[in-house]
Amino acid sequence: MSSTVSVDAVVDRHLLDQLVDGVVARPRADRVATVAPFTGRPIAQVPVSTVEDVATAAAAARDAARGWATRPVVERARIIGRIHDLVLGRRAAISDLVQAEAGKARRDAFEEVADVALAARYVAARGPRVLRERRRLGLVPGLTRAVEGYRPKGVVGVISPWNYPLTLAISDCLPAFVAGNAVLHKPDQQAMLTALLARSIAIEAGVPEALWQIVSGDGPLIGGAVLEHADYVSFTGSTATGRIVAARLGERLVGASLELGGKNPMLVLDDADLDRAAECAARACFSNAGQLCMSMERLYVAAPVRDAFLERFLDRVDSMRVGAAFDYSRDLGSLMSQAQLDKVTAHVEDAAAKGARVLTGGRARPDLGPWFHEPTVLDGVRPGMLAADVETFGPVVAVHTVGSDDEAIDQANNTPFGLNASVWTSDPRRGVAVARRLRSGTVNVNEGYAAAWGSHDLPIGGMGASGLGRRHGREGILRYTDTQAIAVQRAHGITPLPGMDYDAFAELMTRSLRTMRRLGRR
Ligand code: NAD
Repeated sequence: MSSTVSVDAVVDRHLLDQLVDGVVARPRADRVATVAPFTGRPIAQVPVSTVEDVATAAAAARDAARGWATRPVVERARIIGRIHDLVLGRRAAISDLVQAEAGKARRDAFEEVADVALAARYVAARGPRVLRERRRLGLVPGLTRAVEGYRPKGVVGVISPWNYPLTLAISDCLPAFVAGNAVLHKPDQQAMLTALLARSIAIEAGVPEALWQIVSGDGPLIGGAVLEHADYVSFTGSTATGRIVAARLGERLVGASLELGGKNPMLVLDDADLDRAAECAARACFSNAGQLCMSMERLYVAAPVRDAFLERFLDRVDSMRVGAAFDYSRDLGSLMSQAQLDKVTAHVEDAAAKGARVLTGGRARPDLGPWFHEPTVLDGVRPGMLAADVETFGPVVAVHTVGSDDEAIDQANNTPFGLNASVWTSDPRRGVAVARRLRSGTVNVNEGYAAAWGSHDLPIGGMGASGLGRRHGREGILRYTDTQAIAVQRAHGITPLPGMDYDAFAELMTRSLRTMRRLGRR
C-alpha cells in the first residue's frame, strides 16, 4: 500500500505563494517543481533565477550591508534573538513544511527547529562579546596602543544542501548578520521553500528584507554565479563540490568555510554501557534516514562485547517505525529523492554481491512511499565495497569487530574524511584519551552527534576531506569578518630621537628589548 499521507492538508497554499515571491527572479521566470518525498508529487512551483538575477541580488545585498553594518552590534543581536522565540512559537507549522519538503520524520524536523533556536540564542547572546574590539600588546609599552577589531566582509555567499533545509539555511546566516554582513544565498533546488520560510521569519524578526537575498537554480550555474559575487562563502555540501568551490574562490582570493562529507565512525569500547550505546547508535546511524553529515556509517565494536551489543542494537533497529506521518509516530522518514534511493540501493547490493551479510533491513519500501528504505546493518564490509569506501549518506551502517582500542582508532582514522566520531566507554577519561587520537573535527563521548553539534559554543567542522574552517562558536562568527589591526603611536615614532645617531639608537633598542624579555613581555 502506498503512502496515504496528505501533504496538501498540511501546507498553506497562500503562504507558499508568498514565499516563492521571495526568490530573486524575473516576473515570468521559468519555474521548477519542489517535490514532496512522502508522495513524489509537486508541492509548489519555484521561480528559477538567471545569472543576471544573481548580479542584481548581489548589488542589492551590498547596498543593504552598508546600512546594516553601521547599526550597533547589540541592535543586530537583539533582532537575531527574536528568531529564537519566533521559531519555537511556530514549531508545528515549520515542522510541517520541513517534513513536506524533505520527507523526514517529525522528530528530525523538530531537531531542526530546536537547532535554529539554539543558534539564534548563541549568536544573539555571544555575538557582541565576540565582536568587541580587543586591546593587544603594543610595540612600546605605554606608547603604542594596539587594538584588534573585526570588520564585516560585506556580502557573504551561503550555499546550502537539501538534507537539513531549515537549520543549514539559516544557522550560517545568523552569525554573518550579527557581524554586519548581508547574505546572498543559494539553497539547494529541493529545499527552496524551507529556506524561504526561514527568510520570512528573519524579516519578521527585524532583519531588513534586502539583507538576505535568495536565488534559485542549478548548482554549477547559479551557485557558480554566487561564487563570483561573494566576499566570503559558507558552503555546505559534498566533498566533490567543495573542491570546485575552493578552486573557484582561490582564483578570486576569497575565503570560505567548507562543510563537507564524512564517513563517520562509532567506537564501542569493551567497558561501554551497551544499552545506552545501542539506543544511541540507532539514532546516530539513522537520524534523518542517515542523510545527516554527522551520522555514523561505521561501527567498531570491541570483540568481548560484540555479540551483546549487536543483540541490543539489532533489536533497536528492528523496532524503528518507518513511514510518512506528520506526527511523532515514526522514527524514520523517506529518502529525499530517487537519486538518493538509487545510491543507497547500489551500496547495499554491491556489498551483498561482494560477500557482506545484511544483518537487518536491506530493502527499499515502495509500499510506504516512492523513496523509503529500511534501516540497514551490514556485516563483513571490506575495502573495495562502495559501503566501505564512499559516503553512503543513507540508512546503512557497517559493523566491524576490533581487538583493542588501538585497532579501533587505526581503523576509524583509515579514511580521507574526518567530520564526526563517537566513542562509548564507562570511563570518560578513557573516552577523551581516545578522542584525542581520532582525526575528526568533532568527537562525541557517550553521544552520537547531538552533544557536540548542539553545544553552539564549540567550533564545528571537518578535518581532511571533510572540509575547511568551522561553523558555530567564536570561529563561526569571526569567519565572516576581516581582522583589522590598529596601532596608535603616542609621542615619538619608532626612530632615533632628534640628534641621536643610529648606532646609539640600535644600542638603546637592544637594551630595551632585553629588558622587556626579562620582564616577561612577549
Ligand atoms: P552538493 O555538493 O551536490 O550540493 C550542495 C549545494 O551546492 C547545493 O545547493 C547545490 O546546488 C550547490 N552546488 C552544486 N554544484 C555547485 C557548483 N559547481 N558551484 C556552486 N554550488 C554548487 O551536495 P548534496 O549532495 O546536495 O548534499 C549532501 C552532501 O552534503 C553530503 O556529502 C553531506 O555529507 C554533505 N553535508 C555536509 C554537512 C556538514 O556540515 N559537513 C552538512 C550537510 C551535508
